[in-house]
Amino acid sequence: MKQFTVRTNARSEMIDITDRIRILLKESRIKSGVCHVFVPHTTAAVTINENADPDVPLDILMELEKIVPFSDHYRHVEGNSAAHIKASMLGASETVFIENGELVLGTWQSIFFCEFDGPRTRKVIVLIQ
Ligand code: ZN
Repeated sequence: MKQFTVRTNARSEMIDITDRIRILLKESRIKSGVCHVFVPHTTAAVTINENADPDVPLDILMELEKIVPFSDHYRHVEGNSAAHIKASMLGASETVFIENGELVLGTWQSIFFCEFDGPRTRKVIVLIQ
């Protein structure tokens, strides 16, 4: 099991972490298997989506904000309920297949770390087997 940190710069942000996972995959020398990516946080998530147009992650964040507004008479006293809800909507993990030592992703797919309560320094755990 490996891990790395992600420094986020905004309250909500999607950061492409595919290349950082590819480095760990190379180091592992595993040619065929699965790669699990897990975010050990309750106000952050991981998702797979388009890497070509940077407006796609921005649109995702914009629409999530409409569905789950930052302020909405939430009960949670910490004041970050919207971040908790968005994190659960997108989920804490993704699994990607490995073939010929490469992640099996579509041409336009990347793995994104999703921050919903930043800026912070976050952790990403990767298990390659
Ligand atoms: Zn909280």
